[in-house]
Amino acid sequence: MAPLNIIIVGAGIAGPAAAIGLARNGHHVTIYERSTTGQEVGYAFRITPNSDRCLKHLGIDTIAGGAVPANNLRIYNSQGDLITEANENTDPEMAKKATSVFAYRPQLVKQLMDAALSSGVEIKTGVKITSVNVDNTSLTLDSGATVSADLIIGADGLHSAIRPAIIDSTTHFPKRTADQNAIRFMLPRAILQNDPTMSPLVSGDLTMFSWIEGPAIIIVYPVEHGTLFNVTLCHPAHLSDQEANKEQDSATATSYNNKVSFETVRDVHNGWDPRAIRLLELADPDGFRIWKMMDMDEIPRCSRNRTALVGDACHPVLPHGFSGASMAIEDAITLAEFLERDVDGEEIPALLELYEDVRKPRVARVRERARESAVGGGVEGRAEYMQFLAGHDAVRFAKERLAEYKRERA
Ligand SMILES: Cc1cc2nc3c(=O)[nH]c(=O)nc-3n(C[C@H](O)[C@H](O)[C@H](O)COP(=O)(O)OP(=O)(O)OC[C@H]3O[C@@H](n4cnc5c(N)ncnc54)[C@H](O)[C@@H]3O)c2cc1C
Repeated sequence: MAPLNIIIVGAGIAGPAAAIGLARNGHHVTIYERSTTGQEVGYAFRITPNSDRCLKHLGIDTIAGGAVPANNLRIYNSQGDLITEANENTDPEMAKKATSVFAYRPQLVKQLMDAALSSGVEIKTGVKITSVNVDNTSLTLDSGATVSADLIIGADGLHSAIRPAIIDSTTHFPKRTADQNAIRFMLPRAILQNDPTMSPLVSGDLTMFSWIEGPAIIIVYPVEHGTLFNVTLCHPAHLSDQEANKEQDSATATSYNNKVSFETVRDVHNGWDPRAIRLLELADPDGFRIWKMMDMDEIPRCSRNRTALVGDACHPVLPHGFSGASMAIEDAITLAEFLERDVDGEEIPALLELYEDVRKPRVARVRERARESAVGGGVEGRAEYMQFLAGHDAVRFAKERLAEYKRERA
């Protein structure tokens, strides 16, 4: 069989991850990305062992790239009383195979893009896709040109331009299910270390600390070889909606770059532990960014004919489960496993349906868990959930399901 000509829309996380696997299978892969830097969405996230396992399969070593193992975690209430402490990655042999890390998004995107390029993927940046035709598997670019392929993968995030061609976007669209906003900023370790109030928190081997009160939470963790701290503040939307509601133009709608004032950030945390307030005071007052947190109910289908959705385009989840990027990476790996080197082009629609069957139940559980955590739940059954989340081997699971599919078709 001839290799497939595959177009991927979006070079965030899911796009390049899928591209690497598919190109290594021998397919010709082109990515179209509207941003010119390929790193439009900044900040950081946690990579749990399930997705670290997938990244290792793609040849990506997150720790070599600067990610920090999530070893020692400490959680306080808003008054600064210790609620819980946990140690993860305690088994060094297990950690070699897959570990839980905090990764700086621009760095992980760079690692993925470098690996995609060296796998032969063509990457076209500064090109926005304006529409897709799922009947003839073609895309219209912002230049007005049309391109066609054997398969189109929509990896274009929360506000996907591909999704409306697959499902009815008047009934299925991202929503503010938890009614919360997130504020983010970064702080150099040196600033925290030189501050007498904060230095005890960052001088030892603590790798994440957090304050939590009902649905409001402050999460702090290091990235970039420990030189930078990522801070995320989630809270009820009414406390900061005035600034979150400021007009965002569509080109930057996923860049989360609405500014929010220090005064708002401080007022949201009025009366909290003085260390939490000090953290805010030490930040660059121009560096606070806010956005509305959204997820989406399960959509009836993730593919149509020879066009499929992956990652946030298909199933945005609330960040409370630390799993959006992880689910995007698992989707990418699954698709790449199903679209083997010698795949028959006629089988693409059936294989895309298999991809949906495999991914939907897992993502549904992750979505529900993140929703529970957003309202202060997610504590009960944590060990069992973490086993479900982190213990999953997406490559092995996809291989088993593909073998089953082939047996049934034989
Ligand atoms: C506050 C917060 C915290 C988070 N924390 C975590 C965490 O700890 N762990 C975790 O796993 N996940 C986390 N996530 C989620 C994670 O960031 C996303 O799930 C992940 O980025 C999704 O990857 P993606 O590739 O599907 O989409 P994206 O990363 O959004 O990438 C989409 C790409 O498509 C491009 N694009 C969009 N439209 C077009 C178009 N029309 N034409 C061409 N290109 C286009 C965009 O420029 C972008 O590069 C968090 C999210 C938030 C908001």
